[in-house]
Amino acid sequence: MDGISRILYDQATIASAVKRVGAIISEEYRDKNPLLIGVLKGSFIFMADLVRVLDIPCEMEFMVAKSYGQRTQSSGVVEILKDINTDINGRDVIIIEDILDTANTLFSITEVLKARNPASIKICVFLDKNIERKVPVTADYKCFDIENEFVVGYGLDYAEKYRNLPYLGVLGV
Ligand code: 5GP
Ligand code: MG
Repeated sequence: MDGISRILYDQATIASAVKRVGAIISEEYRDKNPLLIGVLKGSFIFMADLVRVLDIPCEMEFMVAKSYGQRTQSSGVVEILKDINTDINGRDVIIIEDILDTANTLFSITEVLKARNPASIKICVFLDKNIERKVPVTADYKCFDIENEFVVGYGLDYAEKYRNLPYLGVLGV
């Protein structure tokens, strides 16, 4: 594909990582009917693959959030452009995100959701970028740790392109 300098993870490698994470979640959430909340758009392919390797009952929701960076560490830094339609009071929530970078988005989303009294909240990401973070967010479940470079594919975009690549690649000339 034009613009991709290197393939980081091919389809088979991704599939086995998703399967591994799915098995862990299935084990830990058996009989809990977790609510998986996908953060759009980046998580849509990961979420679609992940839920199909879960062998437990679960429900799905999606939200769209816009982060305004780290001006403050309060929940006011995120604007929810599309909220979920489910009451999460007492529910076991798993937030599904494409990548943990600065973690500002996930920090804010988690704060917003915590205020609604779920029984638990965990974070599941496809990728965890190796950078120093100013906010206290860690992934409970992840497929891969990656170095600090810009990746695309498998849901992740550059200017809305490349989300449809079935593999994860590095942009370059
Ligand atoms: P954070 O709030 O953790 O800094 O970043 C959140 C969003 O930035 C991610 O959900 C993703 O959409 C975008 N992002 C961060 N790093 C990358 C990357 O390497 N590639 C792409 N395509 N998007 C990224
Ligand atoms: Mg995103």
